[in-house]
Amino acid sequence: MKNNADEIRRLKERLGQGTLKTVIIPHISADGDAAGSCSALSEVLQQVGIEWHILTCDFIPEYLRFLKNISSAISFQEKPEECKRLLADADLIFMLDHNTVAREGDLENWVVASPAGRVIIDHHPDPDPQQYVISDTQVSSTCELLYIVMSQIWGKEIVTPDIAGALYTGINTDTGGLSHNSSHPQTYRIIADLLEAGLDKAYIHERIYQMNNLSRLRLIGNVLLNKLEVNEQYPVAIMPITREELDRYNYKDGDLEGLVNIPLSVHNVCVSVQITERRERVKLSFRSKGNVPVNEWAKAFFNGGGHLNAAGGQMDLPLAEVVRKVKETIPWFFEQLKNSGI
Ligand code: 5GP
Ligand code: MN
Repeated sequence: MKNNADEIRRLKERLGQGTLKTVIIPHISADGDAAGSCSALSEVLQQVGIEWHILTCDFIPEYLRFLKNISSAISFQEKPEECKRLLADADLIFMLDHNTVAREGDLENWVVASPAGRVIIDHHPDPDPQQYVISDTQVSSTCELLYIVMSQIWGKEIVTPDIAGALYTGINTDTGGLSHNSSHPQTYRIIADLLEAGLDKAYIHERIYQMNNLSRLRLIGNVLLNKLEVNEQYPVAIMPITREELDRYNYKDGDLEGLVNIPLSVHNVCVSVQITERRERVKLSFRSKGNVPVNEWAKAFFNGGGHLNAAGGQMDLPLAEVVRKVKETIPWFFEQLKNSGI
């Protein structure tokens, strides 16, 4: 685990200097860790009397809007002028669960133009240099790291049941329900602290995992039945999903959450790639088992990155071409693995 104590101390000093206006930003297509960390941090700032606004370049998926303060997030797509004004007026910008402004979509230019100091709290490799960088790739999630930051700045007592629920949402979703990236005892000590702070674990599980609707189940069923292909030579599963299929099953943000993990449960499959034709561009999601670094593959060919076992990318090409590119680069990826002794 990385010791961020000095950086946290510097941030504590900054937060203690007079009246501050802060902005909190998750990454584009926020997931449970991004939304959970924004919710938890905003609620702590609320308690200590620091002004905050959560800004998003897109929209936080509906299944995460139960998190405290998340429904007050301001979308750049809906209110660009308000976002620009808040960024221009801000003293500090918190960048949560991402390592570069390039993951902030259309907010990026306005964040860069703002005179505010920037604070990265994140667990992805290679964070951009910013005024404050609190980063550790060994933790399970940004929410785990944020708990450490909060307890060092304000003490554990600051954690209310709502904050505990938000932090647990990020820890649980970023580890696939505590299956991967969660072998360190610290993660469980923090969960124990969250339970002591009043975490309602059953409620969080219900909100995240038991909110299926029929159209979502049918979309996933269709993909698994008709779209999932396992490569004949390499242990790779691919699932291409067209815009037409998303429309047919009344797709909403978040409906495909978790699907990319399912093929990994097939014996001998160690990489799963979901390729989805979104309205703007094609989105790729990569997952792997063991020490297979799918982030390298995402970075090398698909404008992306992420973690060893969970990465993503995007392409401005037709779906069929992206699928072709994935298939063409499979031998390259496995050659790399062989060369690095994996
Ligand atoms: P997901 O497949 O759930 O969208 O993303 C999995 C992981 O990859 C997340 O940790 C996310 O931060 C990262 N990731 C997803 N898309 C991108 C991308 O376009 N660029 C980069 N650098 N990382 C991504
Ligand atoms: Mn994360």
